[in-house]
Amino acid sequence: MDIAVIGSNMVDLVTYTARMPQLGETLAGQDFQMGCGGKGANQAIAASRLGSQVLMLTRVGEDLFAQNTVRNFEENGIDTRHVLSTSGPSGVAPIFVDEQGRNSIVIVKGANDLLTPADIDAARDEISRCRLIVLQLEVPLETVYHAIQTGQELGIPVLLNPAPATPELDYARIATVDWFMPNESELALLTGLPTTTLDEVEAAARSLVGKGMRNVVVTLGERGVLWLSAEEKHLVEPVSVQAVDTTGAGDAFIGCFSHALVSGKEVLEALRLANAYAADSVTRRGTQTSYATVEDFRSAGPAH
Ligand code: AMP
Repeated sequence: MDIAVIGSNMVDLVTYTARMPQLGETLAGQDFQMGCGGKGANQAIAASRLGSQVLMLTRVGEDLFAQNTVRNFEENGIDTRHVLSTSGPSGVAPIFVDEQGRNSIVIVKGANDLLTPADIDAARDEISRCRLIVLQLEVPLETVYHAIQTGQELGIPVLLNPAPATPELDYARIATVDWFMPNESELALLTGLPTTTLDEVEAAARSLVGKGMRNVVVTLGERGVLWLSAEEKHLVEPVSVQAVDTTGAGDAFIGCFSHALVSGKEVLEALRLANAYAADSVTRRGTQTSYATVEDFRSAGPAH
C-alpha cells in the first residue's frame, strides 16, 4: 500500500450554465452531469490512476449514491475495506460551471460528517503499511487531528490540504504535518492576509512557515505553484492550456503530487508533474472524469 487517503466522498451534481444565477433568479442551464467527487475521493482516484496503491478511509450514506461511489472506487483500483456505510444521506455537491470554466460549489457533507477517530483506529494496521497519509477538511476536524497524530505515531509523512478552509483550524494540532497545501484563497482565509499578488502569497505562506509549518505549497490556479519552507522557495511556472473546467484541479494536483512523492521523485520534480497533470485536467469537463490515466498522461507530451 502506498497512500492512505482519509477524507470525503461526494456526488457531484454539475450544471453547466452561460453565467452564474443571481440570488432569486432562475436560469436555463446548458447541460448537466452527475459524477463521483469529494476532495478525498478525487485525490485518491488521481493517485490511483497514476499507479499508486491507495487505501481509502471514508463513509457513504444509505442511498442510491453510496453503491455508485463504492463501485467507482473499485473500478479505479482503490482498496475499499475502510469505505464504511452509515445511515442518512451520502455527501453531495451541487456545482455550477460557467462558460469561462469558473465554478461555484455548495457542499452537503452528509455521511462524511460521521467519519470518526475510531474509524482511523480501526484501519491503523493498514495505514501503518502506507508511505503517505493524505487529508482534507471535508470530514470532522477531530478526525483530521487524530489522523495527523496517527501519522506521527507511525512515522508516516502527512499531507494536509486545508480545503475547504475554516478559521476553526487549530494550528497547534496541525503543525507537525509534512506538507500543507492550500490554494491562494484558502491561504488568505487561514492566515487573514491578502494573497492577490505573488509577493502577498509568499508573505502569507511565510507566516505559516514562521509558525513551524515544514512545507507550504500554494496552488495558484493559472499562476502555477509556490513551494516555501525554511530552506526552499520555488515558483513552478504554470503550464499554458485552454481551461474548460477547473473543478477538481487542486485535487488532481494533490493526487499526482502524492503519487510522485511515494514513487520516489524529488520534491521539485513531483511539483512539476503535479502542475502538468492538474493543467491537463482543466482542459476537460468534470472532476474525476478529467483525470488522465498514467498512459494518457505519459503520451500527452515531454513536459509530462
Ligand atoms: P487551483 O486549485 O485553482 O489553485 O489549481 C490547482 C492547480 O491546477 C494549479 O496550481 C495549476 O497547477 C493547475 N491549474 C488550475 N487552473 C489552471 C489553468 N487555468 N491553467 C493551467 N493550470 C491550471
